[in-house]
Amino acid sequence: MQNPSFLAQQKTLEKSQGKNNLQSLFGTHKNPCDNQTKSLLDGVPPKELAPIFHYIFKGLRETGYLKAFTSIDKSLLVALDGVEYFSSEKIHCECCSTQTFKNGRIRYSHKAITPVIVSPNQKQVIPLSPEFISPQDGHEKQDCELAASKRWLERENFIFENQSITILGDDLYSHQPFCELLLEYGKHFILVCKQDSHQTLYEWLDDFEREGKINTFQHKKWNGKQHIITKYRYMNQVPLKDDDDALMVNWCEVEIKNSKGKVLYYNTFITNFTINNTNIKTIAEAGRARWKIENENNNTLKTKGYNFAHNFGHGKQYLASVLATLILLAFLFHTILEYFDACYRLLREHLSSRKMFFDDIRALTRYFCFESWQKLLEFMLEQLEIPLPESV
Ligand SMILES: [Zn+2]
Repeated sequence: MQNPSFLAQQKTLEKSQGKNNLQSLFGTHKNPCDNQTKSLLDGVPPKELAPIFHYIFKGLRETGYLKAFTSIDKSLLVALDGVEYFSSEKIHCECCSTQTFKNGRIRYSHKAITPVIVSPNQKQVIPLSPEFISPQDGHEKQDCELAASKRWLERENFIFENQSITILGDDLYSHQPFCELLLEYGKHFILVCKQDSHQTLYEWLDDFEREGKINTFQHKKWNGKQHIITKYRYMNQVPLKDDDDALMVNWCEVEIKNSKGKVLYYNTFITNFTINNTNIKTIAEAGRARWKIENENNNTLKTKGYNFAHNFGHGKQYLASVLATLILLAFLFHTILEYFDACYRLLREHLSSRKMFFDDIRALTRYFCFESWQKLLEFMLEQLEIPLPESV
């Protein structure tokens, strides 16, 4: 509902009407108290919620909805990225990561890896179970994004049985041990690989360039106003680092320019897919789809009403992480409802901005009590004079 004051509002509704939406929509018997809910949740490790993500993923797969998301080699593109959802110099818990400044001040924070299924052709993204970056038992060093990504892979790999997966990530992930781990787990990868952090690889590329061995390919597309020129350069089998046991990877560069020569997009990737003139476009598009984890997922969670970075309660153990996971689940359910619930989909199409949709739901449930979710959605459709879908 994207409603930070729902509980208080329902208590008021209970006083005036003798009933409330917590009972009818969420099936509670007695109104829970804020502090009690928080102290109960504080003891729940967030991975206890992972089976809900698995259930949804399995359902989407079995009903064929994920087919529209498949890309190169019929694989699903899973983008990994770290996101910070809490920081403070005062509030902290045993799961906080810490950063000590020169003047002795300490900054506490919580970060997570929030993997999502993305596709260049799909507006929606499908969040998967997150992994939290948090000090680990038996490790003295601070936890980091790469270590958390490894744990995520070890924990979640089983859900991808018989499903080809291509992992997308930023430059940080173009790291030999991580790439090797992906290959060990039978995963493909398309990862950003920048020159300043991969000098050896780029020295090899300079040599190949001098020898005229770098492959180039370009195509021109009319976008209705001007010609857009996409130029690719690629080279297969380049060492990722300066070592005898360096992993050999396939590198490509994408540059998109308008007809005036202005660069609209530039990036470089490494992949385990052997690149050729036929698949380079698909590989580059898949690599580019990585931005969706920042824009469609992390940015939506922070700025589109989900209040992902808001401190709803920190707790002593897991509360902050459990609340973050529940917010991710809310976002996932909203996406799923658009696929599977005809009334919800119609309303979202009509009330086109997410904000308008949730503003209306918040206002309605503050003043009226609805028997069920279905009745709430039907009421909205009727008032907007939208015919109910046939299946209802
Ligand atoms: Zn903490």
